[in-house]
Amino acid sequence: MNTCLFCHSNGPFSKPEHIIPEALGNDDLILFDEVCDKCNQYFGSKIENFVLGKTPIAFWRTFLGIQKKKGKLPHVNLSQPKKQKGRLSSIHKIHDNFVGFTCHDDYSISVDIDDSNIIRDIIAGTQKEFKFVFTPYVLSMMGRFFCKIGIELLCLNDRKHARSHFFDQARNFARNGNGIDLWPIFHGQSGTIQVLKKRSMDNEGLKEEVFCYHYQLLELDSGYTLLVLTIGTDVWIISLNDPYPKPVICDAFPDNKIKLIWYTPEEVEKSSGNRGTHT
Ligand SMILES: [Zn+2]
Repeated sequence: MNTCLFCHSNGPFSKPEHIIPEALGNDDLILFDEVCDKCNQYFGSKIENFVLGKTPIAFWRTFLGIQKKKGKLPHVNLSQPKKQKGRLSSIHKIHDNFVGFTCHDDYSISVDIDDSNIIRDIIAGTQKEFKFVFTPYVLSMMGRFFCKIGIELLCLNDRKHARSHFFDQARNFARNGNGIDLWPIFHGQSGTIQVLKKRSMDNEGLKEEVFCYHYQLLELDSGYTLLVLTIGTDVWIISLNDPYPKPVICDAFPDNKIKLIWYTPEEVEKSSGNRGTHT
């Protein structure tokens, strides 16, 4: 009998599992009979909803105009309930909590600002960019999102390998978030914003091609199994078989200026008390 990739239950398996959310434009990377309905529902409502709405991925979703299931254009709200802010006030003096983005029918983007001080500073010319801080909570959720995607991509290639003990921690972190609080995420840049949307004219009129995402599973000689996921101009890299960050991972991507986004346990501790729940 088949068992669920994440919780080892015997199903039911009635829903297709989208490896990368449909909201990012995925309609062909799908697992059948591998992820049970309960885990499918959990990932959608607890992890993907958050990541697609309240992290830098939300910005790309808006910028690229990837339509939601119901055909509405996405709205990004980067504000978070207080208990989820996980803010490191001693480290990040400025965290623009009140900034969101809206994509309109003509693909123009507007920025929604819900803070009169920020508006004043923009008018005065002193605020030139918006800062979005990766709080421990945001990092944890993004780590779980990437672990889920990576494990499911492995499963697409080799369902037995994806269930091997090498990936126990990643599967457990994606589904339960326990054991360790953060999974190291490496971030870099690739390409420019100008090449993400290509417009061309043909007999049927104006066509627009939009780059949504690109993924790669890599096995390094050093033994790491990596997920490399590019969304917009952001490159996200995680190691699926070892949660401890090693510089050798950065060395494998000399062109992308890869940096580790990480908090030490002490920094996480300092921000605790308003980190919210992880489940
Ligand atoms: Zn399950």
